[in-house]
Amino acid sequence: MQGTILIVDAIATNRISLKVKLAASYKVIQAEDIAQAMAALRKCPPDLVICALSLPQGGAADLCRLLRQQYPSLEVPMLAIGSRDRADSRLAALEAGVSDVLLKPLDDTLLLGRSRSLIRARNAAEEWQMRDGTTRALGLAEPAADFTPQSHCVLIHEDGARLLGWASRLRPRLRAKLSLARPKDAIREFPPEGPPDAFILALPAEQGAATTACRLISDLRANAHTRHAGVLVVQLAPDTALAAMALDLGADDLMTDGFDPAEMTLRLQALLRRKRMADQLRATVRTGLKAAVFDPLTGLHNRRYAMPHLRRIAERGQQTGRPFAVMLADLDHFKQINDQYGHTAGDAVLVQTAQRLRDNLRGMDLVARIGGEEFLIVMPGTTLAEAEVAAARLCADIAEHPFKVASHARPLRVTISIGLAVGPAAADTRALSVETLLSEADRALYSAKTMGRNQVTLGRPAA
Ligand code: GH3
Ligand code: MG
Ligand code: MG
Repeated sequence: MQGTILIVDAIATNRISLKVKLAASYKVIQAEDIAQAMAALRKCPPDLVICALSLPQGGAADLCRLLRQQYPSLEVPMLAIGSRDRADSRLAALEAGVSDVLLKPLDDTLLLGRSRSLIRARNAAEEWQMRDGTTRALGLAEPAADFTPQSHCVLIHEDGARLLGWASRLRPRLRAKLSLARPKDAIREFPPEGPPDAFILALPAEQGAATTACRLISDLRANAHTRHAGVLVVQLAPDTALAAMALDLGADDLMTDGFDPAEMTLRLQALLRRKRMADQLRATVRTGLKAAVFDPLTGLHNRRYAMPHLRRIAERGQQTGRPFAVMLADLDHFKQINDQYGHTAGDAVLVQTAQRLRDNLRGMDLVARIGGEEFLIVMPGTTLAEAEVAAARLCADIAEHPFKVASHARPLRVTISIGLAVGPAAADTRALSVETLLSEADRALYSAKTMGRNQVTLGRPAA
C-alpha cells in the first residue's frame, strides 16, 4: 500500500466506485459528510483526501478550510471531484486550498496519476520537515526571513503571440515577474538572481507534439538549476493519458482545460507558496548543518567539528606511527582588551587572530575556535620540532604586528600563549587518547600563562 486515502462523499455508490479504482494501490477510508471526515482525520491522518465538490452541508472548500484551521500543521493534500457545470465552485475550491478539481466522468488514469503526484509531493515535504525538525531540535536553525522576494515565472510554448496574450491577462492578477520562452530556450544560462521559480509549460494541441514537449519536464527535473522550480503544465486539448504522464514525469500541477487567467493565478500562487516553503526548509537544513560545525564570528570550525577530527587524526597516527601535533592557543589578558576598548574591538581581535592563525598554517591543518578566545590547532604529519617552529611563528606574528581595530586609531598590542603536545612519538607505544593529549596541551598552556604569557610551552605526559 502506498498510503491512505480518505474519500468523502454523501452518495454511497460514488464512494464505492472511487474505492474500486483506488483500493489496489491505497488503503481507503470513507466518510459521508464533513463531521465524519473531521473525525476520520483526527483518528488517522490520511495521505490524501478526495472529496465531492458539494456535500449535504458545505463542500470540499469548507472541509479544506476547516482542516487548515484546526490542523494547520497537517499538510494533507485534497482533491475534489465535481461536475463541469460548476465552474464557480471549482475556483472557490482552489481558492480554499484544494489542490485540484477533477471533473466527472472520472478518468482512472488521471485520477491515479493525480493521487500519486500529490502523495509524492506531500511525502517529500514531510521528509524535509523532518530534517528541519532535527535541525531545530539541535538548536541550529536560523530564523526565517519575513521578506519574500518577487517570484519569477516563465511561460513556455512555441507560439509567442499566444503567450503574450496569456501574460497580459495574468499580469494584473499575479505579483510575479513573467517572461516568455520557446521550449528549446527554456533551460539556458540563468541571470545572476537565479533560475525562475516556476515554469508554465503549455503543451501543443497536437498529441504527438505534446508528448514530445513533455520531455522538457524531465529535463527541468534533471537540471541542477531548475529541479526545485515549480512546473505547471497546461493542456490546450484534453488528453488524460498525457496528463497522467506529465504528472509522473514530475509536473507539480496541471490544467487540463486550457488557459483561464483566474485559475492559473490561483494555481501559480499555490505552487509558488509551496516552493517558497520548500526552499526555506532546504535553506534551514543547509545553513543549520553549516552552523553546526562553523563558528559564525571567525568562520573557523567549532568544537563540534574539531573533536571528531582530532580523534580521527589520533587514530590514524596510532595505526601508522605518523606524528601529529595539537596546540591549545589562548589570547593573553583578553578580558582587558574588552574592558578597555569595548566588546566590538574584542571581536575584531578574535577575527584577525583567526585569520593570522589560518594564514600561518597549511591548508591541511585544522584551526578551530573552541572557546571565547581559545583556539585548537591540529597539525597532521608534523614532528615535535616542526610543531615548535610553527607555534613560535604563530606567537611571534600575533605579538609583533599590532591589531588595527575600527574604533581606535592606535593599533592594539595583543599576545597569545600556546600549549603544545605531540603524538604518538615513535618510541611511544602507549595508546595516547585524545583526552590525554588535550590535557597535556592544556597543562602546557597553563605553564605558558604562569611563566609570563606570550610564549610556547611543550606538554609532558602526566607521570
Ligand atoms: P588570560 O591571559 O589568563 O587568558 O586572561 P584572559 O583575560 O584572556 O582570560 P579570561 O578567561 O579571564 O577572559 C576571557 C574573556 O574573553 C572573557 C570574555 O568576556 C571574553 N570573551 C569570550 N568570548 C568573547 C567574544 O566572542 N567576544 C569578545 N569580545 N569577548 C569574548
Ligand atoms: Mg585568555
Ligand atoms: Mg581563555
